[in-house]
Amino acid sequence: MSNHLFDAIRAAANLDDLFIETPDGRTWTYGDMFSQCARLAAALDSLGVRPDDRVAVQVEKSPEALMLYLACIMCGAIYLPLNTAYTLVELDYFISDAEPRLVVCAPGSLEGIVPLAARYGAHVETLDDAGGGSLLDLAKDEDSDFVTAQRGPDDMAAILYTSGTTGRSKGAMLTHGNLLSNAATLRDCWRFTSKDRLIHALPIFHTHGLFVASNVTLLSGASMFFLAKFDADEVLKLMRTATVLMGVPTFYVRLAQHHGLTQEAAAKMRLFVSGSAPLLAETHRAFAQMTGQAILERYGMTETNMNTSNPYDGDRIAGTVGFPLPGVSLRVTEPESGRPVPDGETGMIEVKGPNVFKGYWRMPEKTQAEFRADGFFITGDLGRIDDRGYVHIVGRGKDLVISGGYNIYPKEVESEIDQIAGVVESAVIGVPHPDFGEGVTAVVVKTANSLLDEQSVLNGLKDRLARYKQPKRVIFVDDLPRNTMGKVQKNVLRDLCAELYS
Ligand code: ATP
Ligand code: MG
Repeated sequence: MSNHLFDAIRAAANLDDLFIETPDGRTWTYGDMFSQCARLAAALDSLGVRPDDRVAVQVEKSPEALMLYLACIMCGAIYLPLNTAYTLVELDYFISDAEPRLVVCAPGSLEGIVPLAARYGAHVETLDDAGGGSLLDLAKDEDSDFVTAQRGPDDMAAILYTSGTTGRSKGAMLTHGNLLSNAATLRDCWRFTSKDRLIHALPIFHTHGLFVASNVTLLSGASMFFLAKFDADEVLKLMRTATVLMGVPTFYVRLAQHHGLTQEAAAKMRLFVSGSAPLLAETHRAFAQMTGQAILERYGMTETNMNTSNPYDGDRIAGTVGFPLPGVSLRVTEPESGRPVPDGETGMIEVKGPNVFKGYWRMPEKTQAEFRADGFFITGDLGRIDDRGYVHIVGRGKDLVISGGYNIYPKEVESEIDQIAGVVESAVIGVPHPDFGEGVTAVVVKTANSLLDEQSVLNGLKDRLARYKQPKRVIFVDDLPRNTMGKVQKNVLRDLCAELYS
C-alpha cells in the first residue's frame, strides 16, 4: 500500500549501498536496514500496534533505535521519541499526555517504567544500545516481507515534544507530508547525493538528529557514521572520510578549540551545518579561519521543521540564519496585532508552508492561539529581515526584556558584551525590578585568568548602548546552563537572579 514517507525513502535507496557504520565497525546496507525495519514493524503489529497508535521510545542512541522510528512509519504508528535525560516523574507527563499503546525503554529503566506504563494501559518492551532487548528478540522471529500501512501526506508520522526551554514541553503533531517535504527541500538546498557520508553525532530524540540529519540522508540514499554522542577527537578523525557534519553550536565551539582542526583536516568535508541554538558570530569566524570553510547556519523548530537556511552557494553570513527555504513563507509582524512591521524592523517571526505541523497534541486552544487566521504559525522567535533578505533571529519573545517601558532585545546587548576582552559569552535576562518592571541583567562567563569585574563590563558598554539597554547588574558564572541541544536555559538564570533587585 502507498506510504507517503516510506515510499520516498525506499525509492531513493540502492539496496546494496551502505547506510550506517558505527565506530565499533558494525555496518548496515540499505537492504539490511529495510529487512530489520520490516521485522520490527511486524513485531509492532503482533504487539497490537495499529495505525495512529503512539509508540513512545526512550532508549540510548543506536542504529536499531533509528530503525524503530522507520518501523513505526512503515506500520502507520506515530513515533514518539523521548529525551533520554527525562526522569520517571517527567515521563509520567509524557505518557499520560500521549497515551501510547507501547513504550520501548532501555533495559535498565524497565523496573520504573513498567508500573508507570501500566497506569496508562501501555505495554512495555526494551531495546538496548548494542542491538539487544526484548523488542529485537520479537523482531528476530518475524519475516521481512511486511506490507507497509497506507499513509497519506496528512496522516501523522510522529509526535515530537518541544525542548521545554520556555515552559512545559508541548507535543507537536507532525505529518508524513511535513517530514517528507522538508527533507526533500533540505536535500536539494544542501546538494545531498548518494555519495555523501554524514557524521551523525546528534541525539535522535530531537528534530535535528532525527529528521534533519536522518531523513535528509535517507532521501539521498547517502550513508552516515553513527556516533552515540559527540566526541571532538572522533569527529576529527571521521572528517577525513566523511563529507558533511550537522551539529549544534557547542560542537563547533569544541572543534574550534581543538588543535587538530586545520584546513587539511577538513579538506574532504564539503559542508558544516549548525542549528538548534544561535551560533556565535565569533565561532563562525574562528572556524572559518581554521578550516577555510564557512559554517552554514539554519533555523527551525520542532513544530515547523526547518524554516530558513544560509545559501549553499553565496555568502553564509555569521549571525544570520539565511533565507526562507523554497516553499516556506516567512514574515515579521507586530506581535499583538499580527500586522507586518516595516522592512528591516524587528518583530515576531511567522511561517507558513508544507513544513508546518498540524497542531499541538490535545491542546486545541493552544494550537488556535499560535496560528493566525490566514494559516501563519507564530513561532515565538523575534527577528528581522535585512536589506539583502537574510533573516536575523534576535531572541525569543518570552526572553524580551521590558524595562521602564522600553523593549530590549537581549541579543543586541549580548553581542556588545561578547566583544569585551575577557568575555567568553553572556546571557541577558529581565529580572523583576521595583522601579523598572524588569531590570536588564547580564550573566557573563569570563576567560580563565580574566580580571574582569562588574564595573569594567558596565564601563565597556557605556558608549555603545543606549542607557536603557545597559545592564543594571552583571553577574559572573562559570558556565551558562544549557540543555542537551545546547540551548541556554534563561529560565534557570532568571530563577538564579530572581531576588537581585528586591
Ligand atoms: P519550547 O518550545 O518547549 O520552549 P524550544 O523552543 O527550545 O522549547 P525546539 O523546538 O527544540 O524547542 O527549539 C526551537 C527553537 O530553537 C526556535 O524557536 C529558536 O528559538 C531556536 N533556534 C533553532 N535554531 C536556531 C538558530 N539557528 N539560531 C537561533 N535560534 C535557533
Ligand atoms: Mg519552542
